[in-house]
Amino acid sequence: MESVKLVDGNIKTMIALNNKNLYKTDCYINGEWHAAKNGHAIVINNPFSKEVIGTVPDMEAADCVEAIDAAHSAFQEWKKYTAADRAQILRKWYELQIENLEDLAKILTIEQGKPLAEAKGEIRYGASFVEWFAEEAKRIYGDVIPGHGRDKRITVIKQPIGVVGAITPWNFPNAMITRKVSPALAAGCTVVIKPSELTPLSALALAELADQAGFPKGVLNIITTSDASAIGKELTGNPKVKKISFTGSTKVGKILLKQSADSVKKVSLELGGNAPFIVFDDADIDAAVKGAIASKFRNAGQTCVCSNRIFAQEAIYDEFVEKLVKAVAALKLGDGLETGVNIGPLIGAKALAFVENVVEDARSNGAVILTGGKVSLVNDLIYEPTVITNPNTGMKVFREEIFGPVAPIFKFETEEEVIEMANDTPYGLASYFYGRDYARIWRVAEALEYGMVGINTGMISTTVAPFGGIKQSGFGREGSKYGIDDFVNIKYMCWGGVD
Ligand code: ADP
Repeated sequence: MESVKLVDGNIKTMIALNNKNLYKTDCYINGEWHAAKNGHAIVINNPFSKEVIGTVPDMEAADCVEAIDAAHSAFQEWKKYTAADRAQILRKWYELQIENLEDLAKILTIEQGKPLAEAKGEIRYGASFVEWFAEEAKRIYGDVIPGHGRDKRITVIKQPIGVVGAITPWNFPNAMITRKVSPALAAGCTVVIKPSELTPLSALALAELADQAGFPKGVLNIITTSDASAIGKELTGNPKVKKISFTGSTKVGKILLKQSADSVKKVSLELGGNAPFIVFDDADIDAAVKGAIASKFRNAGQTCVCSNRIFAQEAIYDEFVEKLVKAVAALKLGDGLETGVNIGPLIGAKALAFVENVVEDARSNGAVILTGGKVSLVNDLIYEPTVITNPNTGMKVFREEIFGPVAPIFKFETEEEVIEMANDTPYGLASYFYGRDYARIWRVAEALEYGMVGINTGMISTTVAPFGGIKQSGFGREGSKYGIDDFVNIKYMCWGGVD
């Protein structure tokens, strides 16, 4: 990533869009578009073509303070809006996202690399959180609890927590924002968003649509920076921020959790995963192959819920491997904008080097690379979809979150053995298994130490379910009826003298 001093305004580039307003190269603070106070900007590249696609402000702590102040003063009014009024603006934001779906998807593919069809899916998925929480805004119910004395009555209310700092990653540049921000806004909170420095254009396009939707100034603010650590320190340290919501690596999540301790902020963390994908001998093998392709190779393997370790039972191991290799061979590699492409580039050279290292570790320790195992000739950031047999639990493919299109397939004999292997990781985000025996399905689903379990499916993410992890994959839930909980304080009133 390159940071430059802007001389003549922004570097002149443009993505061809139907709605040109969506191409933003300034940050959105207090309802206005701003350059960085220091005049610096980050250069954004298309990971496939390497072309410069724009610049965004390279902001510092002082800009962040301004955004926090704006959010703090906007909160004083926004929290008083009726739920119906907040819902109406959220609903408008949702409609604008659907109207601009093609453009939003295009921006996403160009800055992130994922195939356009997947990018469209992400925009739909992202917008669905806005729609859902527009509806949920009206259902933030309290309670009336039978009092503990003849003269006592207890009522419980939920109140918005205040200014929320949201830090989001590059692998879902749109949906990771809407998944946090919609429940926050629905609850009556205001937000300062720091998107990934690798994919800021999708975030700024969302801000433009928020502006059009009519959020009052200061309710939603976005700052972009190449110095994530400085902004992270400001968001976690500033007493006006009451809540941190983070999606990203476990390493950074731990830093933010520690930094939030001083002011005892409420925190929710959606961190790394190491998802097992188990195929039992009574499974529908064709369905399992389809599920494995969807959960392993989506976004070129760069999702925190991607299956990382595939386990196939002895009796069906060979059949499963053979069919998976065949399905992998059919995947088309290339520019995400090209029709029919399934696998685009990895996000950058560091990501590619990591995947190469993990595969090399497996190869040099005796694993067999059945297909792939190298950088593609199509593009220097595309890693060929790879299937590995004969791996073992000492290898990096078992221990590390691969974040690339690499499928190691472990052989197992018994249910107990595979549960032990599946749980042998500090992570606990997504897990998957295929089988038909209903008693075993219950046992395995209960035994897996994960926040989410896909049973006979490789696609589990949806607005209506509580997304989140346990162990070092974090805490807090996004989406569903539980999604608001992270953004409200519970208060009870104990009424005395009622006799
Ligand atoms: P990944 O490995 O997927 O890039 P990261 O955890 O590094 O995950 O990044 C996720 C988000 O966290 C990005 O927006 C990134 O800029 C931000 N980030 C990285 N380091 C820090 C930090 N020290 N403090 C706050 N945010 C950070």
